[in-house]
Amino acid sequence: MTPQGLAILGSTGSIGVNGLKVVDWNPKRFKVVALSAYSNITLLKEQIRKYKPKYVAVKIEFISELKFEFSSLKIKFCDVEKEASQLAGLKEVDIVLLAMRGAGALEPFLEAVRKGKRIAPANKEALVIAGDMIITEARKYNAVIIPVDSEQSAIFQCLDGQKAPVKKVHLTASGGALRDVPVKSFSKMTVKDILRHPRWRMGPKITVDSATLMNKGFEFIEAQKLFGLSFEQINIVIHPEAIIHSMVEFYDGSLLAQLAVTDMRLPIQYALTYPERLDSGLKPLDLVALKSLTFQKPDLKKFPALDLALEVAQKGGTLPCVLNAVDEEVVDAFLKEKIVFTSIYKVIEKVVCRHKIKSDPTLNDIYEADNWARREAKEILWR
Ligand code: MG
Repeated sequence: MTPQGLAILGSTGSIGVNGLKVVDWNPKRFKVVALSAYSNITLLKEQIRKYKPKYVAVKIEFISELKFEFSSLKIKFCDVEKEASQLAGLKEVDIVLLAMRGAGALEPFLEAVRKGKRIAPANKEALVIAGDMIITEARKYNAVIIPVDSEQSAIFQCLDGQKAPVKKVHLTASGGALRDVPVKSFSKMTVKDILRHPRWRMGPKITVDSATLMNKGFEFIEAQKLFGLSFEQINIVIHPEAIIHSMVEFYDGSLLAQLAVTDMRLPIQYALTYPERLDSGLKPLDLVALKSLTFQKPDLKKFPALDLALEVAQKGGTLPCVLNAVDEEVVDAFLKEKIVFTSIYKVIEKVVCRHKIKSDPTLNDIYEADNWARREAKEILWR
């Protein structure tokens, strides 16, 4: 079997690193053609040395240094902020692992879709802000999207091969770092407290989003887009053990669930090798050791960000884009210790409520809404 060409966009983040572990586990199956990173140069250099990609996108100020160091490899370097989408559309690339975070993934996503690639998105922002457009284009260009986000992967796996229509999807949530913390202590939570996620090790932005449950709100919208579900068809359930990654309910009352250890290598490998299921090298689930799996209703009063995100999901149009943009700005301010934890929601709510929604947005409307939301957020944050 000739190896499949792989582009990993966001190779130095937690999904990118796990993606390369999947490559290491299946060395004959994949050839790393392209890598993109932002500013983690030390790790990127290691990856270039090991995988010898033909193309590398990175923050522009590092290009000359890398060109000099790797002159013997004849790598084509480009500016990650402007040209990352070129890597997604390369002829030699069969699969794009979209592991970069943020709204910047939208252009590479669309490019990969328009070139009819297989796309394994771990990035949820692009689907949140322009999901309808991505799915429409994917149909038009026969692109295949196999989600990497553990919940979306679970839903995909439960739906695969089913001929009957789905009644409901139960999106599970571990509950984040604050599940058992009383709400009166929220204002005292430091960045360090919030970054201590009980189940998953992820990047800082998504770990904060898990603490506010905003991440689940984004996943709700992501699931709507990926699987064409109505607002009423998705139910969020807190499942602290994070063993069931989501469930699908059919009209006869049957529920199908996907269970696995909490290790992102599994959904990544599944997305890269689908429809095959190869040995992942991971420990199997020990059901007896687990003893029990528990479920709770999400507390929308305690976690108003989720409540707001659900309202945004229902309203649609440019509003999810605004929610994503303001959340990026506000979480960044929290991580830089400019605001306290409880201000995250307050600023987001203010900006979301001020937005005049455009329905069926064009790409231009989306960029405008994104810019508007960031401006509004910055005005509140830095004034
Ligand atoms: Mg997830």
